[in-house]
Parts: sequence; structure tokens; C-alpha cells
Amino acid sequence: MSTADGPRRVAVLGGGILGVSTAVHLLREGASVVLITEAELASGASGRSLSWLNSAGERATPYHQLRVAGIDRYRTLFAADPTRDWLRFDGGLHWAGTGADQDTVARHAHERAHAYDSVLVSPETVGDHTPGISAEAVGAAAIFNPGEGWVSLPHLIDHLMEEFTARGGELVTNAGAARVLVEEGRAAGVATTGVSFAADDVVVACGPQTPAVVAELGVEIPDASPVSMLVTTAPVEHPVRTVLNTPRAAVRPNPGTTFALDHDWYEESITQAQDGTYSIPEAVVDELAGEAATLLEGRPPLTAASWKIGLKPIPGDGEPVFGELDTVPGCFVAFTHSGATLGLIAGELLAGEIMTGSKHPMLETFRPGRFA
Ligand SMILES: Cc1cc2nc3c(=O)[nH]c(=O)nc-3n(C[C@H](O)[C@H](O)[C@H](O)COP(=O)(O)OP(=O)(O)OC[C@H]3O[C@@H](n4cnc5c(N)ncnc54)[C@H](O)[C@@H]3O)c2cc1C
Repeated sequence: MSTADGPRRVAVLGGGILGVSTAVHLLREGASVVLITEAELASGASGRSLSWLNSAGERATPYHQLRVAGIDRYRTLFAADPTRDWLRFDGGLHWAGTGADQDTVARHAHERAHAYDSVLVSPETVGDHTPGISAEAVGAAAIFNPGEGWVSLPHLIDHLMEEFTARGGELVTNAGAARVLVEEGRAAGVATTGVSFAADDVVVACGPQTPAVVAELGVEIPDASPVSMLVTTAPVEHPVRTVLNTPRAAVRPNPGTTFALDHDWYEESITQAQDGTYSIPEAVVDELAGEAATLLEGRPPLTAASWKIGLKPIPGDGEPVFGELDTVPGCFVAFTHSGATLGLIAGELLAGEIMTGSKHPMLETFRPGRFA
């Protein structure tokens, strides 16, 4: 199944941000790419993500460095056209629950120690940094991170897919659950129901389904993906521009003067039907919208216009999983929690590894082989 006579042929499995970004970066590097996905593009986690671009809080240095590089690539994209309404850099605001102000102060100190832009603010000073926040809602100690931003992943995927098409990429949607083909111990392509795609390398970027896809190859990647929900509000004119990460609601601006909302306190209210679909009582959705409204100056009526529920991809040890499988050469994996922040950089570095055969040092601690 070698395609040695033409450009390197890569099959990318999964039409979320990691698959699309890797596919476009592969095309930029001269590969021939087929992108195969189960349903439509952005129908998985990337279609229901808060997608706050950040490296806030505490984490190991290699992960922090990768996230900062991820934000850097978004900055470059932003600079190319700062008028886009789906990619903004207006900062992030965080505070912890009642009685946890010391945690916020410690988080701020940690961020400063990493030279991550972090300003300690109070209800009295928050308005000096970012507009539209209800001062009464803000914790006694809060953090404003001026360098953070947000992206709407479906818009970003559309944007990248224009380049994908222009560069001659082949897209296969509604392929059903596909699997990796292996020949003589090496990845050799992808099989969907009825059709196979030969390839020199395969990228598995199936979001929360990634562990199941590689399990068929005898590879274990622990999975800790929880069920999550993203709510989109009806349009509302409001001056808030920053992403809010607070004890009862996370809020980010969204194209069309809407807001995207999420949190985790209602996870137990989500139920799964026998056909696999999820639901949540509407009263819980309304409660989240109410919590979000209390954060905004003037307490505008926030109405939930739609909500999407599904798995949020999180590897078992919480760290990203990027790189080639030791036991199935030619099969690369991209599976991570912070896939919005890492979307561009992960695609770039993985494409580089596939095309050059040399491993990037910034992915060193994230190899799938660590679970063997
Ligand atoms: C509620 C929520 C909030 C989040 N907040 C943030 C945040 O603030 N910041 C941040 O950086 N990240 C955040 N994330 C995480 C981020 O959105 C995800 O990490 C990222 O979208 C994952 O992209 P992906 O391409 O890996 O997976 P997905 O978007 O899930 O795409 C995988 C695709 O693969 C397809 N697929 C699956 N199995 C197969 C198969 N066998 N064959 C073919 N196709 C298959 C699926 O249909 C899907 O379209 C959040 C996620 C959620 C859900």
C-alpha cells in the first residue's frame, strides 16, 4: 500500500479541530491528505466547546509551554485579520468560590512566576481592566489575564477548510465509525464501511472516541472524558468582552452577540438514553443562564437558545496525548482536553513529525507510549 511514487499520503480520522488543523498543516507541508469523519465536520466536542484560549492556573511546565505556543499561533491568525468576530483577545477573568480567595492569590503568584500575564483585581478595580462585569458578583480576589482570548471552533474549522479545499485536500464526511488498517505491523490506511483509503500514515484525532479507536489496535490510552454541556444564548447586546471563569458559570462572548456558557456543577443532571443521546432538564439549563446573568452588569435577561451535550475529551492522566504509536508505526494520535488552545500548534507539530520523521521536543512528555 505504499504511495512512494507520489507525495506522502496521509489519512486523517476525525473532523474536529485537531483533525482539521493537522490535515491543513500536512497539506502545507506537501502531503496528499484525505480527511475522513464519522458525521459532519465539527459535530463532536469542537462543535460545543467553550474554547477559552488560555494557560491559566497550575500545570506542569511542558504543558504550560505548549499552551503558550498554542496561544501564539492564534495571535498570528488574529493579527492577519483583527476584525473577525470568531477569534478575539480581550482577556480572561477568574475567581474562586466563597472562602477560596487565598487559592486565587496563590494561583496569581504561580502565574506570575511563569511570566504569565496575571493581574490581581477586586470588585472595586475590575472595571479598570475589563468592561461590563457586575462588581457585586466578583470575588474579593479575582484574576484578570489580559493575554487570553477565545475562538469559535466551528468558525475556525470553516476557515481552515477553505484552505484545505484550495490545497486539494479530499474530504469524506458521514463515513460512519471508521478504523485504522494495519499491514505488516504498520498503519496502512483507514477503512470505512465498504471503502478503504490507503495511506502512508494515519492520524487518529477522534476526540473522546480516540481511546476506543486505538484499542482496536491493541493500544491502551486511559480515558477520563466526562459528559459536558455548552449552552448558546439568544442574542443580547452587552459590553462584556472577556471570558469569565467563575464558581457557578463560565461565559464567553460568541459571534452574533450571543454568549456561550458552560460549567460542571450540573453534570449529574445529564442522563443518557438507550440510543446514546443525552438530555438535561430545561430548568437546569435555565439555572445556568441565570447564574451567568448575575455576572453581567445590569443583569440582562439571558435566554438559552440552544444547548449541546456530549463527551469532553480528557485523557486519563489529564495530559495531552500526541505522537506516533510505538507498536503501530505510522499511526499518530491527537487526544487532549485543551484542544481549542492547542488546536493550531498540535496540528503544526504533528504534521512536522509525520513529514520529517523527526520528533518535536515540545511533544516529548505527551507521547502515547507513556501508558504502555
Ligand atoms: C464543554 C466543553 C468546554 C471546553 N472548553 C475548552 C476551553 O475552554 N479551552 C480549550 O482549550 N478546550 C476546551 N475544550 C476542549 C476542546 O474543545 C476539545 O479538546 C477539542 O474540541 C477536541 O477536538 P478534537 O478534534 O480532538 O475532537 P472532536 O471535536 O470531538 O472531533 C472528533 C471527530 O472525530 C469523529 N470521530 C470519532 N470517532 C470516529 C471514527 N471512528 N471514525 C471517523 N470519525 C470519528 C467525531 O464524529 C468528531 O467529529 C472544551 C470542550 C468541551 C466539550
